[in-house]
Amino acid sequence: MITSTVIKELVAIVGPQGVLAGKDKTLVYDCDAYTIEKSPPEVVVLPTTTEQVAAVVRLANREGIPFVPRGAGTGLSGGALAHGGLLIALTRMNKILKTDYRNRRIVAEAGAINIQLTKAVTGKGYLYAPDPSSQNSCTLGGNVAENSGGPHTLKYGVTTNHVLGVKMVMPDGSIAEIGGELEDPVGYDLIGLIVGSEGTFGVVTEATVRMVRQPQTYRTLLAVFNTIAEATNTVSDIIAAGIIPAALEMMDQIILQAVEMAFHFGFPTDAGAVLLIELDGLEAAIDRQAEQVQALCEKNQAREVRLARTEQERTNLWIARKKGIGATGRLAPSCVTHDGVIPRTRLPHLLELIAEIGAKYGLRIANVFHAGDGNLHPVILFDERDPDQVRRVVEAGGEILKACVSEGGSVTGEHGIGVEKKEFISLMFTPRDLEVMERVKLAFNPNELCNPGKIFPSARHVCTESFVRRRGALPM
Ligand SMILES: Cc1cc2nc3c(=O)[nH]c(=O)nc-3n(C[C@H](O)[C@H](O)[C@H](O)COP(=O)(O)OP(=O)(O)OC[C@H]3O[C@@H](n4cnc5c(N)ncnc54)[C@H](O)[C@@H]3O)c2cc1C
Repeated sequence: MITSTVIKELVAIVGPQGVLAGKDKTLVYDCDAYTIEKSPPEVVVLPTTTEQVAAVVRLANREGIPFVPRGAGTGLSGGALAHGGLLIALTRMNKILKTDYRNRRIVAEAGAINIQLTKAVTGKGYLYAPDPSSQNSCTLGGNVAENSGGPHTLKYGVTTNHVLGVKMVMPDGSIAEIGGELEDPVGYDLIGLIVGSEGTFGVVTEATVRMVRQPQTYRTLLAVFNTIAEATNTVSDIIAAGIIPAALEMMDQIILQAVEMAFHFGFPTDAGAVLLIELDGLEAAIDRQAEQVQALCEKNQAREVRLARTEQERTNLWIARKKGIGATGRLAPSCVTHDGVIPRTRLPHLLELIAEIGAKYGLRIANVFHAGDGNLHPVILFDERDPDQVRRVVEAGGEILKACVSEGGSVTGEHGIGVEKKEFISLMFTPRDLEVMERVKLAFNPNELCNPGKIFPSARHVCTESFVRRRGALPM
C-alpha cells in the first residue's frame, strides 16, 4: 500500500501533474499490448528528468515499494505489467538531445518515440535502423529493454547492434553512465547485457545510438502466392541465393483480408500469402537483384509479382505490413501476438502446425512476420470477455511455443519473456542456466524491487542473502 505521505513525497519530486493515483487514473496502465493479464499499478509517476527518476527510485527503495519502468506500453509479453506498486512512465522524457553527424550518433531520452529518431536525421540522409512495426508509438527505452527488431533489422541488425551507451537509474537510485560514444569500450560488455534485460536491471533514461546512412535507392516488391508453403519456400531460396533483402516479410490471407478491410489498398484477398520484399542499395545494381528475386518468386509459383512504382505505392505496402496486426481489430475484439523463432527452412512445416493448432482449439490464427529471420508472429484472434476463449488462447499459444522449440527454435525473437512466457523459458534452459541468469539480475537488482516477477518461472528463486532478508528470514 502506497501511503498518502509517500504520494505527497512523489508530488514533491515530479510535481502534481506527474503523479496519477486512484483506480480511475491508473486503470489505463493496467496492461501493455499483451492484454490477457491485467493489473493496474497503485501509482503512476511521469518524471521529466533523470534526477527525478533517481529520486523516485530512492524513495521506492526506502519504502520497499516495487517499481516498473514503462515506455509506451506496446510490449507484447506483459513486461510493463505492474501488479500494484509504482509505475515509472518515461513518456515525458521524449527529447532528441543530440544529432552528431561526424560521429554518426544520436543521443535521445528514453521516452523518445522510435520514429522520431529517424525523423530527426532524415533531412541529412540518415536513419535509425531498428524499426519495430510499432515504431510510431514505441519508445527508445522500451526498444532497449526488449532488444527490439523490425522488418529492416534482417539486414541492419536489431537494437543491440545500434546502442552504444545508456544513462540509467540503477535499482538503488544511483545514476550510472554505461558505454558511450566509443566503438570499443573496455571491460565487460555491459551494454550487451542491459539491452534485452526487460527493465529488470534499472530504468534507462537516455541512450546513445548509431545513425545509419539512408540507402541510395529501394525496390519494393509484393509477391503473391496461392499457398503459404510457396511463399515460405521462396524465403529460403532468396537467402540461399546470397541475397539479403533489407526486409523480407510475410502476410497470410487473414491479415490480407483485415488490411484490405481497413485500408482498401487493393490487396489480393484470395491469395494464400504474400511476401513483401524490399531491396536497397546502389542504383547501378538494384534492378539486377530485383530480377533475381522475381525469378525466385516465379520458380515457387508466385502468381504475380508487383513492383512499387511510386513512393506512395511503397508507403502503402509498408502501412499494410506495419498496421497488419492492428487491422485484425476488424476481425475480432482481441488478439494475442506470439513471437517464436525457428530455422527459416522449417517455416512451411510450422505454419501447417499452427493451422492445425488453430483448428484443434477452434481459434482463428493469422500470421504476419519477419520471414527472413524465421521470426514468427502468429496472431490469435479471440474475445477476451469469454473466459473459455481465453483458456484456449493460452493453451494454443503454449503449443505453438513448444513446437518452435522442438523445431530447433526459440520461445521469443524480439518481444521478450515478460510475464507471458516465464513458464516457457524452462523449455530452453536448464535450472542451472536460469540460476546463473538470475544471479546476473541480482547483481544489478539485489532487492528485486525493479520490475519483479518477470522473465523467470515464479517457482525459481536464487537464495542470496538479500533474497532471504526480503522474505523476513534475516534482519534487513
Ligand atoms: C502492433 C505492434 C507491432 C509490434 N511490432 C514489433 C516489431 O516489429 N518488432 C519488435 O521487436 N517489437 C514489436 N512490437 C512490440 C513492442 O512494440 C516492442 O517490444 C517495443 O520495444 C516496446 O516499447 P514500449 O515503449 O512500448 O515499451 P513498454 O511496453 O512500455 O515496455 C516494454 C518493456 O520495457 C521495459 N521498459 C520500458 N521503458 C524502459 C526504460 N526506459 N528503462 C528500462 N526498461 C524499460 C518495461 O519494463 C517492459 O519490460 C510490436 C507491438 C505492437 C503492439
